[in-house]
Amino acid sequence: ISATPVAVRKICCIGAGYVGGPTCAVIALKCPHIQVTIVDLNQSRVDAWNSPDFKLPIYEPGLEDVVRQARGKNLFFSTDVDKGIREADLIFVSVNTPTKKSGVGAGFAADLNYVELATRRIAAVATSSKIVVEKSTVPCRTAESMRTILEANSKNGCRFDILSNPEFLAEGTAIKDLFSPDRVLIGSLQTPEGISACKSLADVYGNWVPQDRVLTVGLWSSELSKLAANAMLAQRISSINALSAICEATGANIDEVAFAVGKDSRVGPKFLKASVGFGGSCFQKDILNLVYLSESLHLPEVAAYWRQVVEMNEYQKRRFSKRVVDTLFNTITGKRIAVLGFAFKADTGDTRESASISLIRDFQSEKAYVNVYDPQVEHSQIWMDLSEASPSMSLDQIKKQVTICPSAMDACKNAEAVVIATEWKEFNNVDWEAIYAGMNKPAFVFDGRLLVDAEKLRKIGFQVTTIGRGERL
Ligand code: NAD
Repeated sequence: ISATPVAVRKICCIGAGYVGGPTCAVIALKCPHIQVTIVDLNQSRVDAWNSPDFKLPIYEPGLEDVVRQARGKNLFFSTDVDKGIREADLIFVSVNTPTKKSGVGAGFAADLNYVELATRRIAAVATSSKIVVEKSTVPCRTAESMRTILEANSKNGCRFDILSNPEFLAEGTAIKDLFSPDRVLIGSLQTPEGISACKSLADVYGNWVPQDRVLTVGLWSSELSKLAANAMLAQRISSINALSAICEATGANIDEVAFAVGKDSRVGPKFLKASVGFGGSCFQKDILNLVYLSESLHLPEVAAYWRQVVEMNEYQKRRFSKRVVDTLFNTITGKRIAVLGFAFKADTGDTRESASISLIRDFQSEKAYVNVYDPQVEHSQIWMDLSEASPSMSLDQIKKQVTICPSAMDACKNAEAVVIATEWKEFNNVDWEAIYAGMNKPAFVFDGRLLVDAEKLRKIGFQVTTIGRGERL
């Protein structure tokens, strides 16, 4: 068996989503000598990646520019999964791994069905040896299951080397993160073949990532590091949010507390922004994954520790909704509330686990009318998310209570309150005086992202409530 690293010439990425698309588009741009084909079973998603006017399926600053430069040269999008697999010498598996909805571990465990199907497809159609790279976020030791499936189904003497290469990009800054990552993590078996496969992938990243940022570790450490990184980031948010509740009750100011705490070089200033709660497809899912893993390993105290991070997040969202109701004289029935922002964070159109969904569901259940505005999210996505959040209501019923508006100004017209749910910069630049003039009085602003200048708004006449700032002075 040769352990000489293969020089990668053709890459296939299974999964053209938020991770597979940007990640492999950047690889194509930075490695013009490598042919990159991103495949997906979802025809409309692939069509959007191939659209002549570059109406890509995901919004991400800088992404269109990358795709414009590489598409058709060495970057291709296709639904022909088998051809992509057959031609490649390195295959990324970047499929979705959502939280299981039913069955064993429902609500906690990762649904590994998509990973398994993609792995079985690789084994079924490969006619030559492949390096298979686990890009999806998966529970610790999933690579072992993939290896077992591949080896059991290998044909024509094909050998499969498995690597773990979790993705640390953040939506909204994905291209920046991919151009200049804090680190690239590659996990491999510590065998000559594993180390050689690891070197092949490290050489791909070596085309633009400094050598000292490419970290090589064991397979299981790599898999666990991804869950650990997300769990610790989410834990910081839940910690600062827990403190924001104390600030509101005491008159302390969460921005001042975060500033003071973050000045300690052991803590650091990043990721200490209080908010209505974290969203996105990863934080909650990955922590629940860690909870499930801990329980499976008979470590109940560890499971309880991480579970609390998610519970704190749910509490923060509920607490915010309650604050809106309490402030609006204990009832919002029949009142109109403008929700600004539906994406889970700024600079993305992704709405998975967005705090806006919970807030709007709470306002609906209190029989309020809700006007929503988001600069990026497709209307069809908003209707889909709201339907999923309130399964007992028909879409027609939902539409009687919720209106999607073309601008922040439209959303706020005749409203009693404005709720800032996503930190889109444009909400800072809207004409707040004109918004005030168009609202019912007293006019309230609830800033769930510590985005706007509360004093400026108060001078206009708004009653402003922000996360982490109490009324006591
Ligand atoms: P996504 O849902 O946007 O994309 C996954 C794609 O895989 C879908 O388009 C789906 O059609 C396709 N797919 C599923 N099974 C397939 C198969 N057998 N053959 C071909 N295509 C198939 O998901 P995502 O956000 O890109 O996440 C992918 C993985 O990366 C997940 O494990 C996630 O946890 C992880 N991750 C996500 C982020 C993020 O910010 N979104 C960041 C880091 C890691």
